[in-house]
Amino acid sequence: MSPEPVMGSCPCGSVTFEVRPPLSGFRYCHCTRCRKASGGAHAANIFVPQGQFAWSAGEALINRFDLPGAKRFSVWFCTRCGSRVPHKVRERDDYLVPAGLLDNDPVMRPENSIFWGSRAGWYVEPQEMPKFTEYP
Ligand SMILES: [Zn+2]
Ligand SMILES: [Zn+2]
Repeated sequence: MSPEPVMGSCPCGSVTFEVRPPLSGFRYCHCTRCRKASGGAHAANIFVPQGQFAWSAGEALINRFDLPGAKRFSVWFCTRCGSRVPHKVRERDDYLVPAGLLDNDPVMRPENSIFWGSRAGWYVEPQEMPKFTEYP
């Protein structure tokens, strides 16, 4: 029996896709590019072989930005809501899927944090902070 596909979508719901496990990688990337492109402390990047990725809807709404001078760094985004969406990694047979877009549990868990030395100076690890289920 093949594993259940994992569905994903952008915040406005126009762009949807599905990923078929097994995933080939899952990691947090603290590099400057990922921090800027995500707006967060780090990206949560899932990698999946091209043949296990399929767009379900909204592909025509996607625009792309290939960072000049970068070998692989790209941002594909929904032109309706501005959110990042998955992209085919240049020169590789993989799609990069921002994990926050997933609507189901991908089962796999992040394996490591990369570009740790590039992490934001203000970054505090979650286990060092109090947690609230809603706004405190
Ligand atoms: Zn959207
Ligand atoms: Zn990165």
